[in-house]
Amino acid sequence: MGVYLLLTLLGVSLVCAFIGTRLINWTIALVVTLVLFSISGQLSLFATIVATLVLAVILVPLNTTTIRQRLFSEPFLARYKTMLPKLSETEVTALEAGTVGWEGQLFSGKPDWRILLKRPFLKLTAEEQAFVDGPVEELCGMLAQWEITHELADLPPEVWSYIKENRFFGMIIPKHYGGLGFSALAHRAVLQKVSSVSAVAATTIAVPNSLGPAELILHYGSQDQKDHYLPRLATGEDIPCFALTSPTAGSDATSISDHGIICRGVYQGKEVLGMRLNFDKRYITLAPVATVIGLAVKLFDPDGLLGDKEELGISLALMPRDTKGLKIGSRHFALNVPFHNGPVRGKDIFLPLDALIGGQEMIGRGWRMLVEALSVGRAITLPSSSTGGVKMGALATGAYARIRKQFNMPIGRFEGVEEVLARIAGNTYAISALSRMTVSAVDMGEKPSVPSAIAKYHATEMARDVIKDAMDVHGGKGIILGPRNYLGRAWQGAPIWITVEGANIMTRSLMIFGQGAIRCHPFVLQEMEAVRLESDKESLDQFDLLLFGHIGYSIRNAVRSFTLGLSLGHLANVPRNRDTSGYYKKLSRYSAALAFGSDIAMASLGGKLKQKELTSARLGDVLSQLYICSAMLSRYEAQGRPSADQPILAWAFHDSIFKIQTALGAFADNFPNPWLRGLLKLIIFPLGRREKYPGDRLGHKVAQLIMSPSETRDRLTNGIYTSATSGHPIGMMEQALPEIIAAEPLERKMLKAQKAGKLDAITWEGQLQQALDQSIIDETEASILKHTRELTLEIIAVDEFESDALRLGQSEKDEFSSSQAA
Ligand SMILES: Cc1cc2nc3c(=O)[nH]c(=O)nc-3n(C[C@H](O)[C@H](O)[C@H](O)COP(=O)(O)OP(=O)(O)OC[C@H]3O[C@@H](n4cnc5c(N)ncnc54)[C@H](O)[C@@H]3O)c2cc1C
Repeated sequence: MGVYLLLTLLGVSLVCAFIGTRLINWTIALVVTLVLFSISGQLSLFATIVATLVLAVILVPLNTTTIRQRLFSEPFLARYKTMLPKLSETEVTALEAGTVGWEGQLFSGKPDWRILLKRPFLKLTAEEQAFVDGPVEELCGMLAQWEITHELADLPPEVWSYIKENRFFGMIIPKHYGGLGFSALAHRAVLQKVSSVSAVAATTIAVPNSLGPAELILHYGSQDQKDHYLPRLATGEDIPCFALTSPTAGSDATSISDHGIICRGVYQGKEVLGMRLNFDKRYITLAPVATVIGLAVKLFDPDGLLGDKEELGISLALMPRDTKGLKIGSRHFALNVPFHNGPVRGKDIFLPLDALIGGQEMIGRGWRMLVEALSVGRAITLPSSSTGGVKMGALATGAYARIRKQFNMPIGRFEGVEEVLARIAGNTYAISALSRMTVSAVDMGEKPSVPSAIAKYHATEMARDVIKDAMDVHGGKGIILGPRNYLGRAWQGAPIWITVEGANIMTRSLMIFGQGAIRCHPFVLQEMEAVRLESDKESLDQFDLLLFGHIGYSIRNAVRSFTLGLSLGHLANVPRNRDTSGYYKKLSRYSAALAFGSDIAMASLGGKLKQKELTSARLGDVLSQLYICSAMLSRYEAQGRPSADQPILAWAFHDSIFKIQTALGAFADNFPNPWLRGLLKLIIFPLGRREKYPGDRLGHKVAQLIMSPSETRDRLTNGIYTSATSGHPIGMMEQALPEIIAAEPLERKMLKAQKAGKLDAITWEGQLQQALDQSIIDETEASILKHTRELTLEIIAVDEFESDALRLGQSEKDEFSSSQAA
């Protein structure tokens, strides 16, 4: 009977752990079990006494605060202090800068799906929609990729004027300052559409609306700065740039040696307190044309003019272009995507203190200002632009794969190409959902620092995959540059988006999980704060509560991960009666595995976790994929679960789940401690690694979906520029696609006749005539075939140039070398 009691107590403990019961309730459940066994006469008196004593020895200290603190919390607190990673001021700032949204649920190990399903699926206002349908559509019609990227290496003057006149630079500036006052969703819609045509135009518009000083001035600027700059920035009278990066400080941006010394000096004829600035910045977008430069420098006060602190920290200044001593104007050339980008240098430039954003009182707070502004900008700019780029890639590649025929078949019908098309469609679905969810978080008032890092990293990585795949499907058509090429520049430019706004390897290795683990974890940040409390008693009291909450949480997640792994997620509480219920089960399972794995990593590696970048990166991959899957499910629900879209969702979802398994597998396989390695494998994969990469049959269905017009294809690629006006090649292809598909039965008729030996002329035209002569087709059908052949030849055509046309002219060469020498 003792064995039954033991098993029952274990069972009760597992259930309590699985649902996350508090310690006191867990204790009551165990005591009640014991009492029931005892009064039902199933235990002897001796066994009852032994069991009561054992339970008392375990449970009384755990439930008595003073004993528990002395026995466990106090010694552990001492050890915990030594385990804590040393956080620099910069890291503390980064951690404190954001808010926690849905990602906190995913990190908890027990996501409450009702919260996800209740998130509003935001829509553009009528005014925002009118802007997207009006000025944005018109702007897109003015953008000719080849002219911009090759002939001018710039936007044409009329495009610059149009952008300024229509206040594209003022999307985030409130209306009372003359801006458009748009939501983040509208901001996304604009960047998405423009970037589907021109990355140069999209980047030019993006910078003033993200880190360009408008965002910083809006949040931290003095009233004078707002009144002066915001109306000018909104109308493009001022063009902004923001200069942080320098030759020795790229990813490690806070290590800048650009500095300012507080001193007295003469400014506009008056002696004032100010700063003498020396800086050497590079890679600064829009700098060559900027009229107002935001500048990050470290300020020092060696003469104690402001107080007794010598090192004042990173501070942000605003500098007009005509500032004496400023060297600006030369250009870097970013991978044939020639948006303006260049260095900004200054030697002994004197500026008054009110040139600092927010004035003297914001001295030293520059890094926090940048991190906060960046978390918003990063959630919008690159994810939205990537979305536009991949939607364009999916639309064009689907159409091209249907139109381009080899071996008498559309190339998209070959299994090898189908696999690639499915990947393009799945990634496009994922990026679009991810970007929409992150942007919506901004509109819901969050400062989504972790989702913005996830979105920046994964949107740009997946976009690079999509563009690579699109290039492969297009073959030579993607390679030969010229006005007809709509892919080559996107392919060339892909590494730019990987590098800017936090280079991707670092974002994956340090930021997603590094920030996520501490920010989203329900206990860690509070534990760290408790440790830092001044009063020892208060510190111990708080730490004790958190520690035992944390232990209960870890046990719960271990039990959940194991049992959900054994039941393949079936025990999870998820939205029922849906075609996607199984998806939520999988996510619940892997959320528990992430929470368990994170706790093991943090507890066993402590401060060393910072150096174990791959451990951090892999756990970050899991968090990211859980977030991406949530975004896709949220989108699918909001669109009314259209069954026609199910194959694309299924493909993208299973791809993500496979990535989760790969990341968790690599995390467990490479865990430094061999015992914990075994434990991780057992708890996370009790039945082994059973997830599969999306199958061929599913891939086939998905590929077909992007090869012919349908509502699903429209939903996948909505919001991009597809007009056939102004010789836009993708618009023309879209217009031709239905006609070319409609002619396919006629082509098959011709092919059948050809195989039967009825059409043996050498040329296509000869065969068409033979088919007419033999009444295989009639006159109308012949003209349809002729027309669609013309369309096809036009679509597959590439550009050619006179051999001199591609040479750099001597005058351009001279200009180029003199600018280099300067
Ligand atoms: C086209 C373009 C536009 C830009 N626009 C601006 C702008 O407007 N304003 C501005 O201030 N800056 C701008 N930048 C700078 C940009 O933010 C930096 O290029 C970026 O921060 C990376 O710095 P880096 O190029 O010096 O690379 P490095 O810092 O030298 O990094 C090289 C590689 O090492 C990796 N790495 C570095 N540290 C770690 C780590 N701890 N763990 C793992 N991997 C690591 C990085 O991920 C990267 O892959 C721009 C850059 C480019 C190319």
